[in-house]
Amino acid sequence: MKQIALISGKGGTGKTSVTAAFIQLAKNAVAVDCDVDAANLYLLISPRNQRRSPAAFMSGYDAEVNKNRCISCGKCVPICVFDAIARDEADNKVKINHLLCEGCGACVTICRANAIRLVNKQAGESYISNTRFGVMAHAKLRAGEGSSGKLVAEIRKQAFDIAQSENNDFIILDGSPGTGCPVIATLTGTDYAIVVIEPTVSGIHDAKRVIELCRHFKVGVMAIINKYDINPAMSEVIERFADRENIKVIAKIAYDKIFSEAMKKQMTVVEYDKNSAAAASLVSAWDNLVKSIWLTY
Ligand code: SF4
Ligand code: SF4
Repeated sequence: MKQIALISGKGGTGKTSVTAAFIQLAKNAVAVDCDVDAANLYLLISPRNQRRSPAAFMSGYDAEVNKNRCISCGKCVPICVFDAIARDEADNKVKINHLLCEGCGACVTICRANAIRLVNKQAGESYISNTRFGVMAHAKLRAGEGSSGKLVAEIRKQAFDIAQSENNDFIILDGSPGTGCPVIATLTGTDYAIVVIEPTVSGIHDAKRVIELCRHFKVGVMAIINKYDINPAMSEVIERFADRENIKVIAKIAYDKIFSEAMKKQMTVVEYDKNSAAAASLVSAWDNLVKSIWLTY
C-alpha cells in the first residue's frame, strides 16, 4: 500500500480536481481530505453515508468557572493576557469567553478559591464516510482552533487502519496549500508527494518551498504542471527546474473550463467527460504515477 499526497505551494492550482480524479482512477484507494481548515474535496466526491458516528477531536484546554466557589475577588480578570475573562453583570462573578481562552492556566494558578479549572476542549470532529469511489476520512476543525496538524494526523491514522484491514492499494491525500502544520502532517510518512504547479511566478516560488519541505521529510516528489498553456515560457522554466532537481513531471495539463464545469456538477473531470483532453491528461498522469512507483519499488 502506498500513500500519495497531492500538494501545492499555493491555492487555486487545481490540486483538488486532480486529487478527485486520482481517487476515482485508483479504484481501490482510501481518500483523505487533509485540508481540515478549508475542506473542499467533499464537493467532488460527496461523502454521504457515514460508516460511524462523528468522533470528537479533543485538543488543548479551556478554562471553566465554578460559580458556586467564585468569591468575586476579580484577581483572575487582569491576569488573562488574552482578555478571555470578564465580570458577569448578572451575578458579579466572572465568565470565560471560550473563543478567546487559550487554556494557559494562569487564571487557575491565581484563583485562591479553586473556582477555575482547565478542561479538555473539543476542537473538531472526524468522520469516516462512504463515497462512490470508496472510503473517505475527513474532518472539521472548529473556527479559531489551531490544532490542524494534530487533526490531520488523527484522520490519517484512521485511514491507514482501514486501508490495512481492507487491503487497499493506495491512500490518496488531498493536502492543504502552503507549508504549514497541516502540510507537514500530510507529508510525514507519505511515500510520494505530487506537487501541482501552475506556471506563474508565485506558482513556482511557492512550489519550490513545498518541494524543500518534501525533501526534508524524505518524501519522493513528482510534479504536475496545470494550465501549462497559460504561460508556456514559465512552464518551460518549471520543467528545467524539475529536470535539475530530478523531479519527474508526470503531466502537463492544458487550461480547460471543464475543471470548473465538473466542479459545479460535483463530479470529477473524468466522470464529467471521459473523452475530453483534460480527462485524457489526468488518466495519463495517473498511469505515469503508477508506473513510476512500480519502477521505484
Ligand atoms: S480569581 Fe477565582 S474567585 Fe476571584 S473572581 Fe476569579 S474565579 Fe472568582
Ligand atoms: S486559561 Fe489562560 S487564556 Fe484561558 S481564561 Fe485562563 S488565563 Fe485566560
